[in-house]
Amino acid sequence: MKLLVATSKTQGTRKNDFDHCVEGELLWIAPCCDDGESSPDSDCGCGRAFGGLSSHRGTTTALIAELPGFTYSDYAEALRSSLAAQGWPPEAAEELAAGLLAFASGWEVGTVIERRDDCFAERLVPAG
Ligand SMILES: [Zn+2]
Repeated sequence: MKLLVATSKTQGTRKNDFDHCVEGELLWIAPCCDDGESSPDSDCGCGRAFGGLSSHRGTTTALIAELPGFTYSDYAEALRSSLAAQGWPPEAAEELAAGLLAFASGWEVGTVIERRDDCFAERLVPAG
């Protein structure tokens, strides 16, 4: 099953990149604040960030990874506990999990993506 995980690959491609997540942790795409919504380059950075389910921090680079053995219910459960811990409604977990899995399934494994509010684009990974 394909999922989004935190990666430091391609960090620095944009001047305002950041990566406060733990390498390889599961990510979700959190709703952003008004500033973030008006510009992905806002100071808070939420419009260009993916959120770490464990660290509760953000990163601007996400890797499409294949996690063998990981199931939909594992993912929904991970989302549920992370949402609850961060003050989001945990009952949104199943719908979010389904949406994020559908999103990840549209990309090839190994692709690094970035977020520009509601748009997502592939970043080219330098060879080596
Ligand atoms: Zn924001």
